[in-house]
Amino acid sequence: MKPLTEQDIRSSFVNATEEQLARLPLPGIHETLWDEREFLGWRDPQAPHLGYIVHWMHERPTGIVLRAAAGGLRPGIAAMCSLCHSSQPATQVRMFSAPRAGEAGRNGNTVGSYICDDLACSLLIRIVPPHAQSAEHIAERADALLARVRSFTATVMKTA
Ligand SMILES: [Zn+2]
Repeated sequence: MKPLTEQDIRSSFVNATEEQLARLPLPGIHETLWDEREFLGWRDPQAPHLGYIVHWMHERPTGIVLRAAAGGLRPGIAAMCSLCHSSQPATQVRMFSAPRAGEAGRNGNTVGSYICDDLACSLLIRIVPPHAQSAEHIAERADALLARVRSFTATVMKTA
């Protein structure tokens, strides 16, 4: 993905409250390998129920705030992330809900999805399965991942 600046990230959120923006923890963007990311996703070390995803959409940095559901999935089963479609132990996938943008979100309207607990889908599609992934296969998964995250954000932004 095209690199994001701190300013890009701060101004990108479509569903954050002022309070959330004021205390937004920024990820370590200087260490980020942008060529190997479809979106930037990170959890909040001070508020573990919050997570953030920022990606490019129509040439604009677009970010959403996510709330992690309390309590995980039942351990011992497999679960699939709705963004990267990686199948993995259920403890590594969590239900997140994103408040819709604007008034709908202020009225408590949310969009929910099962997503990798650490929001690091870009990393996962490059390391799992660990063997025999061709560059073409990774590129296909990357395209599909970006399409799904854009679609999720578009749903969050839909006002009607
Ligand atoms: Zn994922």
